[in-house]
Amino acid sequence: MADPAITIGQILTKKRDGEELTTDEIGFFVRGITGGTIPDYQAAAWLMAVFLRGMTRRETRDLTLAMRDSGDKLDLSSLSPHPILDKHSTGGVGDKTTLVVAPILAAAGIPMLKMSGRGLGFSGGTVDKLESIPGFRSELSISEAIDQVRLIRLALIGQSADLAPADKILYALRDVTATIESLPLIASSIMSKKLAAGADKILLDVKAGRGAFMKTRDQAEELARLLISIGNEAGVPTTAILSRMDEPLGRAVGNAVEVEEAVQLLMTPGSAEPTFLKFCTELAAHGLIAASTAATEEQAIERVKDLLSNGKAARKFGQMVRAQGGPDGCEAILASLPSAPIKHAVNARESGMIVSIDAEAVGRLSMEMGAGRRAKSDVIDPAVGIVFTHKVGEQAAKGEALAHLHIRVQDEGKAEDFERDLLNACHIDGQPDAEPELFWMIAL
Ligand code: URA
Repeated sequence: MADPAITIGQILTKKRDGEELTTDEIGFFVRGITGGTIPDYQAAAWLMAVFLRGMTRRETRDLTLAMRDSGDKLDLSSLSPHPILDKHSTGGVGDKTTLVVAPILAAAGIPMLKMSGRGLGFSGGTVDKLESIPGFRSELSISEAIDQVRLIRLALIGQSADLAPADKILYALRDVTATIESLPLIASSIMSKKLAAGADKILLDVKAGRGAFMKTRDQAEELARLLISIGNEAGVPTTAILSRMDEPLGRAVGNAVEVEEAVQLLMTPGSAEPTFLKFCTELAAHGLIAASTAATEEQAIERVKDLLSNGKAARKFGQMVRAQGGPDGCEAILASLPSAPIKHAVNARESGMIVSIDAEAVGRLSMEMGAGRRAKSDVIDPAVGIVFTHKVGEQAAKGEALAHLHIRVQDEGKAEDFERDLLNACHIDGQPDAEPELFWMIAL
């Protein structure tokens, strides 16, 4: 119900002057943008005022809850006596973690109904990756997804437009008003959708670095702590893992190439890229702890290792893909993936240690090659991408392949340009005391 004492003019004046908005004023604003009674130009002015003036924790929490309540809220209570866990990554380059961690957790008995987004800019999206599997349907209705989770404990689907519609409206405006990089706006955007999605516990994977939304560790930690406090205050226990995203995660960046890497890890974890395996193992272990399925980190890690080595996590992934319209089983999934016609080796121009690989530059290159979207309406090519043969901390000899570019036919003439961009993104240092930018992760 509209409160006649509150006006948008007064809300704009208060925020412009750096004053704190009340819970009612924030509710009025969110109902106004969702219902269309507050026009875009006033919403855009409000976003800029928030960007410049910030928000208190209380305001940020109130904004999140008002956005959560702006549309449907899922009721997953019918699913299981187990607590329902949701996992969210703030996004990165080569981040195919959900494809590994969600089946591990489901194989451990935890019901997982996870909504994921599409990629935009240098950052990829889980839904695009999954849709590179021929026949895979990510657009299940909520009731179809709930039925699937009841049967096999796992569904990976696209973000429902009916959850937190206020976020959709505000995000589209932020995108065109230079107001994306605001902590309260990012935190409320992420948590409104997560809270509306109905989980009992939330595990956040917050990235810091060149290939992440938050470029520094301090900024990422501040965001993570804000997200945790919003989740906990909303009554949904929330934990976070903070990790480095300066080089791409794992070896593959793209869509089908990332699915292939994730499926290979599930089938033969011993041959996976070690950092990617360690990250997935520890994140899944924290998921088990968050869902109260393991008491200690050691126990949780052992359980995850078992679920990988006994094939249960791989079978769970296969079951989910089959249930959502794809081929039957991991071998069939691998055989079905589209493959780019041109594989172009990028060779090291000098010998030495790879001290850094610029994840943002690699993400942008992958987008240029057709694996990502510059604008929301762009169509991606599922087969193209980049597969690294060397990672940060490894030695490369001059002339040795650092990576292979998977290129579509029409871009054959651009192979040299792509190669130059990739070489520029890889920093090799021939000095004996070269210090690589090594991966780290911490639990908050
Ligand atoms: N992810 C979101 O969902 N929203 C943001 O604002 C940033 C990242």
